Amino acid sequence: MSLAVAKRMWALDSPTLTVDAATLMYGLTGMITIPMPAFLIEHPKGLVLFDTGIAPEAIDDPESLYGAEMAAGLGIAGTADQRIDRQLAALGYKVSDVTHVVSSHLHFDHAGGHHLFPMAAHYVGQGELEFAHFPDPIGAFCYMPDQLQRTKNFDWRVVPGVDHDLFGDGSLIIYSMPGHTPGELSLKVRLASRTFILTGDAVHLRAALEQEYHFPIDHDTKSSLRTLRRLKRLRESEDATLWITHDPDDWAAYGHAPTCWE
Ligand SMILES: [Zn+2]
Repeated sequence: MSLAVAKRMWALDSPTLTVDAATLMYGLTGMITIPMPAFLIEHPKGLVLFDTGIAPEAIDDPESLYGAEMAAGLGIAGTADQRIDRQLAALGYKVSDVTHVVSSHLHFDHAGGHHLFPMAAHYVGQGELEFAHFPDPIGAFCYMPDQLQRTKNFDWRVVPGVDHDLFGDGSLIIYSMPGHTPGELSLKVRLASRTFILTGDAVHLRAALEQEYHFPIDHDTKSSLRTLRRLKRLRESEDATLWITHDPDDWAAYGHAPTCWE
């Protein structure tokens, strides 16, 4: 009997951030430009998003959302057709077609489009909602109270600190990957041709994975290192490709919509 698989997956094109590379990994120098993608997955039981990227209105006017200082530090660049709603439309979908949203975590560059999906079931890791409202000071700038407020009454489904098989057939597994934030999640997507593990911010760069360097402002660095090692073990045991969400080399290697993985 063949294993159940998800039908198709796209990385949705996204604006980019250009930041001081040392903010992503100790020892790096210079500036680095990174994508902020969302992933759309077609499964017979639902249409799933892993993250929703940056808030659509931030593409044109980051200052009004984030303030002048933060906007300058982020170096956001993008075009209106990279808004998540337009990325969906370009593939023939309405925002109301999305049935499930899995949040790697609730930082502004991963959950900025959540408010567009009020009818979806929203999966989030243990402790993430609480931490988003009362974060550690060092990473507090990554959570946006306005964005949390406008999703307050959504159908939030907390994944309780263990792995969760989204549709019960093994094709989409939500992994609990704490460290970057308390509720960080990764998502395994088994397709007919290959299996990806979408890391979210469990790791930010390939180099950080191989050298086992946690992100400089992770919430819990010991958990982050355990999570990095777990990703490497899963890469072996699941025969999976790790798609490091923010890594520019992964972005170049695997492509984005309309490129489709089946
Ligand atoms: Zn993050």
